[in-house]
Amino acid sequence: MLQYDIVIVGAGGGGLYAALETSKKKGLKVAVISKVFPTRSHTGAAQGGINAALGNVAPDSPEKHSYDTVKGSDFLADQDAVELMCETAPKIIREMEHMGLPFSRLEDGRIAQRPFGGASFPRTCYAADKTGHVMLQTLYEQCLKNNVTFLDEWFALSLVHNGERIAGIVAVDLKTGEVHGIRAKAVILATGGHARIYWKRTSNALGNTGDGPAMALRAGIPLKDMEFVQFHPTGLRRTGILVTEGARGEGGYLINNKGERFMKRYAPEKMELAPRDLVSRAIETEILEGRGFKDDEGNEFVYLDLRHLGRKKMLERLPQIRELAIDFEGVDPIEEPIPVRPTAHYSMGGIDTDIYGRTRIKGLYAVGECACVSVHGANRLGGNSLLDIVVFGKIAGEDAANYVSEVSFIPFEESRVRDEEERIESLFSGDGTERLADLRNELSDVMTYGAGIFREEKKMRETLEKVREIKERAKRLKIEDTERVFNTNLQQTLEFLNMVEVAETIVLGAIERKESRGAHFRLDYPKRDDENFLKHSIIEKGEDGDLRISWKPVKITKFQPEERKY
Ligand SMILES: Cc1cc2nc3c(=O)[nH]c(=O)nc-3n(C[C@H](O)[C@H](O)[C@H](O)COP(=O)(O)OP(=O)(O)OC[C@H]3O[C@@H](n4cnc5c(N)ncnc54)[C@H](O)[C@@H]3O)c2cc1C
Repeated sequence: MLQYDIVIVGAGGGGLYAALETSKKKGLKVAVISKVFPTRSHTGAAQGGINAALGNVAPDSPEKHSYDTVKGSDFLADQDAVELMCETAPKIIREMEHMGLPFSRLEDGRIAQRPFGGASFPRTCYAADKTGHVMLQTLYEQCLKNNVTFLDEWFALSLVHNGERIAGIVAVDLKTGEVHGIRAKAVILATGGHARIYWKRTSNALGNTGDGPAMALRAGIPLKDMEFVQFHPTGLRRTGILVTEGARGEGGYLINNKGERFMKRYAPEKMELAPRDLVSRAIETEILEGRGFKDDEGNEFVYLDLRHLGRKKMLERLPQIRELAIDFEGVDPIEEPIPVRPTAHYSMGGIDTDIYGRTRIKGLYAVGECACVSVHGANRLGGNSLLDIVVFGKIAGEDAANYVSEVSFIPFEESRVRDEEERIESLFSGDGTERLADLRNELSDVMTYGAGIFREEKKMRETLEKVREIKERAKRLKIEDTERVFNTNLQQTLEFLNMVEVAETIVLGAIERKESRGAHFRLDYPKRDDENFLKHSIIEKGEDGDLRISWKPVKITKFQPEERKY
């Protein structure tokens, strides 16, 4: 059996930063496993930037950054975690600058910063509109330089623990189809988000299927605030591919079919740079009330107008956005507005951790989008996720490195490897009648219907029932391709099974939270209710396999809840 001191599952920004930090401690054996080649992780798709109160453009401070984050979160974020993140931000930006991350610059050579939604100052550091791409490349180079071991194209299947401590994981090597146990004293989950559940309209990479939270759930580890899913206001009309908030940060307007900048009705001060939950609801309201556009294929949308920025700024600051608009919409934003509509984008909820990324099981950590620390509460501000993943990746990496130096390995039950082999075997040998593509589309449709931007009891109940039905039907999924080598059909089936499990927690949390807060907006309870719901939802699997919900208090330090106005 393979054996490492620490196994990190996921090679996005969160996993790589954790790996880098563990490599500082000499003599540790650390491996990063990733189902895609590391630099194909979704972090590489991040466009707009990363927040830090550097104050390079306007006076700023970590405290103001904390306040904006807490307000953006609709007061659900844990404020101790937020403060830690915002205070660490300037330091970690400099650390990455020194690693060679090529940030865009001001005339005088300092790191440039652009305005972003919900922020009081231009606080978002960027590298044109390819920030995540250069960040991922830089971190990967550094990991190679520091001799981190990579198991590329390995797929983690399950966690092994003894109820108290972690023993390792079971994973399949996609290149051979062989299932392996990997023993470890610590495991750091950094598997990214799960917005692919909304398959038909999302900004997320194909692999953002919630594997980490699903593994955690099956292993009896609680998930937190799963009802909160962020819809980004500006996905391209047909595909849902993202147009960064940086486009509005650089001065873009949102326009309805009356030619109006309609945001004046929803957020008179911040306009297009209000937080995402608010702007997404505004766009959907415009469309619902007949002020949107409709094309011949039936797609409804509004326009994002960037023409007034001019060619020079567009080519310098938003080159990728221009390419995407040309390639996927046939529109050159220098000359024409871009058709956009909200797209499923980010998972605020995730594996419940403390500020060190620790979970209920000793030696098991979670960081990045798969985790819920929580710094984003009910709504994440743009530019805060790239920050979250590196800050808490670093902290968890350091904590895990210290932890494994003090403990020995615990026994790893070999039978757990056989269990997973059998699970996969049964997928191959079953005489399934259900097709993956159909179930995936049905899940996407029903989640958009009942757990989308606007929610209400009746639709959520219908959705829960339907998700459970899909889960049952998924037992009869047919794997068409029975080859063991690089079987993408098998991989996508495993991913789908994870998505259905995670989807159920989203709907359950949404039904139980009888209020509106951040991205969770209920037509039947349109107001925030601090008296009853200023608390985190916790969902876990009981011994009987049923989901149980409980609640956990929010940590408030400096900022008392107030009405959220923009
Ligand atoms: C299009 C887009 C643009 C964005 N722009 C910004 C931005 O400008 N600023 C910002 O702050 N945030 C942005 N975000 C959000 C941010 O990029 C993500 O939240 C963040 O990068 C997630 O990083 P991560 O390390 O948690 O996971 P990811 O980068 O998603 O990486 C997940 C890793 O886990 C691995 N993995 C998953 N499951 C398994 C498994 N079962 N077995 C093995 N490996 C597995 C994958 O292979 C991958 O390596 C954007 C997101 C998107 C989708």
